[in-house]
Amino acid sequence: MTDTASRLADIRHRIVRAERTAGRPTGSTHLVAVSKTFFAPDIRPAIVAGQRLFGENRVQEAKAKWPELRAETDDIELHLIGPLQSNKAREAVELFDVIHTVDREKIAAALAEEMARLAKHPKLFVQVNTGLEPQKAGIDPREAAAFVGLCRDKYGLAICGLMCIPPAEEAPGPHFALLAQTARDLGLAELSMGMSADFETAVGFGATHVRVGSAIFGHRDAPV
Ligand SMILES: *Cc1c(COP(=O)(O)O)cnc(C)c1O
Repeated sequence: MTDTASRLADIRHRIVRAERTAGRPTGSTHLVAVSKTFFAPDIRPAIVAGQRLFGENRVQEAKAKWPELRAETDDIELHLIGPLQSNKAREAVELFDVIHTVDREKIAAALAEEMARLAKHPKLFVQVNTGLEPQKAGIDPREAAAFVGLCRDKYGLAICGLMCIPPAEEAPGPHFALLAQTARDLGLAELSMGMSADFETAVGFGATHVRVGSAIFGHRDAPV
């Protein structure tokens, strides 16, 4: 039993168990199934099994496969979890319901402009570089308050929460704790954190959205 539906059922079960262990209400964690690099035939079994929230990290890739899948199912919610270029802001606003990766003023400005133009308002998370890794996207945690304020006051953007990707070689717990504390300080309710290897830990630290890919869809050939 290693098909997509049974792996998905297992992940859901483990999320419920982690919620219980943490004393959190069942169902308080949203599972975003990360379908990057997989195509419709691989994704459909997850939809048939009831999964509705999906994550993609590239605008062009999402644009190539999701219109068809969405035409088949009404209530798909699409999440952009990868870095956004400002010249893709329009397509991102058109395509995605939630954007997890707002991390600089240029993107905030571009999103604000396209959201006004299209009268469409995806939910927005600010990505925080909790490990201060130079190659990684996200703002410095010490600048989170100022950046969230800038998004709100200068661009009229409501930020719903924070997102992070901890450094690959470190224990994720302290990074999840830092993200949760930063969100608490800012009065933000939502936390996008936790992937295949550490989503249960993330639930323990209060994740409202876990982003799980390979544990549902299987191994990806190209690391993305
Ligand atoms: C690919 C990706 C994930 C999912 O990673 P897995 O380890 O396959 O679960 C989660 N978040 C982001 C930002 C990603 O790019």
